[in-house]
Amino acid sequence: MKEIGNMRKTNLFDKIKQRWIRFRFKPIPIFVFHSVSEGYNPLFWWECDWTQSDLFKQNILKLKRLYKFISLPEAHRHLKEDNIRFEKFAVLTADDGYRSLLGILPWLEEKKIPISLFINSCYLDKESWSEINEEQAKRTNPGVDMQHDVCPYLYMSKEELFDITSEYVTIGLHGHKHTDAIKLSTEDFIHNVKECKEILSQHPRYIPYYAYTWGHHNDNTDAILKDLELIPVLTSGSKNYKNTLDRICIDGISL
Ligand SMILES: [Zn+2]
Repeated sequence: MKEIGNMRKTNLFDKIKQRWIRFRFKPIPIFVFHSVSEGYNPLFWWECDWTQSDLFKQNILKLKRLYKFISLPEAHRHLKEDNIRFEKFAVLTADDGYRSLLGILPWLEEKKIPISLFINSCYLDKESWSEINEEQAKRTNPGVDMQHDVCPYLYMSKEELFDITSEYVTIGLHGHKHTDAIKLSTEDFIHNVKECKEILSQHPRYIPYYAYTWGHHNDNTDAILKDLELIPVLTSGSKNYKNTLDRICIDGISL
């Protein structure tokens, strides 16, 4: 009975502590999406990585009524430094650098919403693609010619990416290739990160943040990013009260 009594006390203490944390530090949600367009093209995107344009705009306007959107570095500074935070901030990010994003960036700028794009530097040449692109395209058309039917339309080119100079956009890393960080050898992971950093750090809107593909990471990959002076960004859906940068995926859902 004594143990149960102690457990109850601990649970109550934890609840009070959590409430106090929530009261003192309003969490800063970081949202992530992938591709947005008028219509869905199964050759290019997985359905779970796509949002119809009107639904996307509707969702963002709803969120804008609830939160003040700030940039990722600004949110990071708040998460590190705030002693108290009553204002409700949120951050918007997009992964992979799909070309469809070019259609939505002017609208976000018009609404004064900052966004961080996490880019795979390997596919900026309009001639390369990842295994997941090929898998998806072949589900739709087994005989697809990736080079001809997919590549020119799938990702933004290096030129298009480097033409983005808006003060509302920042450019972070997602790896040179879209590969799973925890499945790579240490050497290959370092190479994948370094190559991406070398190319994207030349961008005028570069920020030293690395969004893990599928959010997969471990102590080893975290230590490597630290050595390379990069800040990890996760995607496991938990709330950010202090220090962490974790994201919530909003592809294809009505908020
Ligand atoms: Zn990704």
